[in-house]
Amino acid sequence: MGIELRCVRCGYEVGEVRYIDRCPNCGGLLITRSSEPLRRGKRSGIWAWSSNLYTSRMTPKITLGEGNTPLVKSAKIGKSIGLTPYLKDESKNPTGSFIDRGSATLATALKYFKIRSVVIPSTGDLAISLSTYLKRAGISSKAYIPSSVTLNKAYKTLLVSDKVRFVDSYEEALSKALKSTQFYDTIVLPTNPFLIDGYRTIAIEIIYSLGKKKPLMIVAPIGDGVLALSIHYVLEDLRVQHKILGVRACKESPLLRDIYVAKPMLQEYLKKLEEQDLVEVVSVCDDEALEASELMVKMEGFLIGPVGASCIAALKKVLTKNMKNLTTVALMSGDPLQDPYVIKALLGKTVKPEEHIVTLGFTKTKILEVLAYGNPAHPYMLWKELKQKHGLNVSKRIIYKHVEELIELGLLKVVGYEKVEGRTRKVVSITELGLKYLM
Ligand SMILES: [Zn+2]
Repeated sequence: MGIELRCVRCGYEVGEVRYIDRCPNCGGLLITRSSEPLRRGKRSGIWAWSSNLYTSRMTPKITLGEGNTPLVKSAKIGKSIGLTPYLKDESKNPTGSFIDRGSATLATALKYFKIRSVVIPSTGDLAISLSTYLKRAGISSKAYIPSSVTLNKAYKTLLVSDKVRFVDSYEEALSKALKSTQFYDTIVLPTNPFLIDGYRTIAIEIIYSLGKKKPLMIVAPIGDGVLALSIHYVLEDLRVQHKILGVRACKESPLLRDIYVAKPMLQEYLKKLEEQDLVEVVSVCDDEALEASELMVKMEGFLIGPVGASCIAALKKVLTKNMKNLTTVALMSGDPLQDPYVIKALLGKTVKPEEHIVTLGFTKTKILEVLAYGNPAHPYMLWKELKQKHGLNVSKRIIYKHVEELIELGLLKVVGYEKVEGRTRKVVSITELGLKYLM
């Protein structure tokens, strides 16, 4: 059979090479399947596995040196949690995330099929990674992302995407992007088969390094389910006995909000794997991830933030006796320790509690900035200014909510009341703590 795209739901096989993003028969998920033996080629990074990639026959290859990330045994962490895992450090990819592997194969496919513009709904990482690769490919991009992403991610997206629209939630990003497809050649969803094609190289690299004699357990963020499915099907094709521990962020976890997904897009397929005990989902909250991150930095010298360390936190949480017979690989899915607010949170134990502020999102930081440089204002004025001068397109309701939360955090204070159009509105100004946050 060689290499083909096959529908996970109905088994439909795409024979010829063409641009397609879902099963033409049932609308299901298409995924690369291969009966080829694992053979390492001469190219570097993910392209060393061309004989196992659907996109291998497409040229030119769009690459920034993704893949071939370190796989390091972690004896010290092993002692503290009771099982010695290998750490696959995906933060070493060009934009700091495993997504770069998929962006390379997808950008290659888009270029090959002469697609010139794409729209990307995203929680942040996909937009940053793919837009970066599209820059290299000369393809224009527009991203829709929630305004709650970290400032770090918001700025990066603004830097690499040709157009960015900030919206209230990922669901809104998705619906707005779908409505704008007439202006773009295509929309890229996380389920795009050419994206998944590249993700498969994570499992391929692991098997190539560790062999396939012992059963394998891979710990990875569950997100929308795409990564877990891509890993599962590679291991099935290579006939490796395996289990995937999928990490889900708790709902109220500001530090993990970039990996929080209310309902995985691929729930239908994940459920089947869960029923066969091939996938197990574990929830991880901020304090657990932060503790794991601290463990990684202080015990192993891995500068990785709470998102990247969440897999170690999950492993620690659900470790059972029968898991100890498995070769375990925890994926540090990205998140190198770069965000100053996250580093500050990690230092939490050494700074005074009132200065220990968890990372704020883009909109909240913008509100603080406006008040730091301007006069006290009521939320309606803030909403108007953010919209007109900063191009921030979020609803009034969201601004009111952010202001209330900032008051609660002690970053804003009420300095008076003003009657506008018959309604009494709070006038707020920034506090000293708020100014400190911006420094
Ligand atoms: Zn199908």
